[in-house]
Amino acid sequence: MHNWVESLLEVQRIDVRMAKLQAQLDSVPGDKAAAEGLQRGDEDRLAQSRVAVQTLEKELKGVEIEVESLKAKKAGIQSKSAMIKNNEEYRAAMHQIEQYDHLIGQCEDRELELMAAIEEARAAQRECVRILDVTKRRVAEVQGDLEKRRANSEAALTEMNKVRQPALATVEKQAAQRYERLRTSGRARGNGQAVLVPIRDEVCGRCRMNVTAQLRMNALKGMPVTCQNCGAMLYSED
Ligand SMILES: [Zn+2]
Repeated sequence: MHNWVESLLEVQRIDVRMAKLQAQLDSVPGDKAAAEGLQRGDEDRLAQSRVAVQTLEKELKGVEIEVESLKAKKAGIQSKSAMIKNNEEYRAAMHQIEQYDHLIGQCEDRELELMAAIEEARAAQRECVRILDVTKRRVAEVQGDLEKRRANSEAALTEMNKVRQPALATVEKQAAQRYERLRTSGRARGNGQAVLVPIRDEVCGRCRMNVTAQLRMNALKGMPVTCQNCGAMLYSED
């Protein structure tokens, strides 16, 4: 293998590694947002469960006030009825009292229903609090891990950058320039895909298309050869 190939392959190894690190770094914000979304979902469910309890409590309060008002009206009729002399009026008053008793009974049934519903809603709310606590702890852990991932990737990238420049400087200038151009343009741009690939079994190591005998010969001599199909830099392993 020729000298420029060896040194350029080393640069490429560094670049592939750096592209992976960059991808890890780039995925941090998305993963953070996903974790935060998880917590927001649980917070929303807790808020909804609070509203459910409050709505039921408000209705119960309304029914309690209604019972008080019905009882007061009934008491008013009861005290008046004591002074009624006329039988018919008395029967009418008794009938009204019965009506109030009926309404009060209905309200009291509703109160019992509401109290049971409030108990249930409070239990659901407690469950939401519990789930949110678990989620918060998990999200905090994930955030910590992501922060570590970010810091580690950044540190590793900085280190690799330091190594890359000297490595690239050892490559014959023209080859280095072609490599850089290929790496930063076209389909290999920024994704860490190899742009310097070997010819194996007479085909390009990247696109698998046939490489002509002339090009194979040139590669064997150590000349810079380009795949006519995909544009990769080709080299001979012999
Ligand atoms: Zn090719």
